[in-house]
Amino acid sequence: MLTEVADGVFVHEAEFVQSNSVIVRGRDGALLIDPGITRAELSSIASDLDDLGLRVVAAFSTHPHWDHLLWDARFGDVPRYGTAGCAASARTQLAPEAKAEIIAHLDGTGIEDDVPMELFGLVSGLPEGAAEVPWDGPRVRIIEHAAHAPGHAALWIEDRSVLVAGDMLSDVLVPMLDFDGTADPFADHLTALGLLEEAAADAAVLVPGHGSVGGPGAVPARVAHDRAYVEALRDGRSPDDARIGPDARAGWEWVADVHAGQVAALSRRREVSD
Ligand SMILES: [Zn+2]
Repeated sequence: MLTEVADGVFVHEAEFVQSNSVIVRGRDGALLIDPGITRAELSSIASDLDDLGLRVVAAFSTHPHWDHLLWDARFGDVPRYGTAGCAASARTQLAPEAKAEIIAHLDGTGIEDDVPMELFGLVSGLPEGAAEVPWDGPRVRIIEHAAHAPGHAALWIEDRSVLVAGDMLSDVLVPMLDFDGTADPFADHLTALGLLEEAAADAAVLVPGHGSVGGPGAVPARVAHDRAYVEALRDGRSPDDARIGPDARAGWEWVADVHAGQVAALSRRREVSD
């Protein structure tokens, strides 16, 4: 089911980790951002687009993690963009062994047989530093940063006042730092939060990669929330954060394990550098 969150901007919320796909109506078709997860859901998005009389003319993956790189043949053979860094990372995941590893990681989630890998990861990199997505529709500005994943980008659709945040600013997931990818994941994450706030503090709509769509005021509120988490983690304090507390939303208790994993990764990293 597609929900229209702003004029010509639609969101499909998947069952898996409340993943959001975004569709933006352009002059001659739609831009599809982070297409979706399971075969059935990708296919239902394709049907919903048919019902709206929209065909996909371009796509964009916010970052090179598997759940943002999937595709269904029904969307057609159109350019699937990402930043240069996103495309470079996606390319390393195209080998059959890499794809098999992704499916192996999904074992036990219940969707391991439902994720289509045939057209996975075929992302064309935009030129280094590209400022917007090349397509015939409302201007979609690229806010690239190094938090969470290489070549990660949020998209700011200024005319519609919509921020598509990628895997940032979630109300259910804590910030997940890229401990393996960068020299200073804390600085990178805090810088990214600053960029999102600077570009889109007044956004009327915030669509995170996973979690609930937010309204006016959601960008600064979630930036502050994520900043507090990242600073606590960095400084070795226990974050006072409902997402990992005893009152975490039902079904999301595992986010506390993600946090514990980050604390462990951090202490390993500090041991190595000491
Ligand atoms: Zn994700």
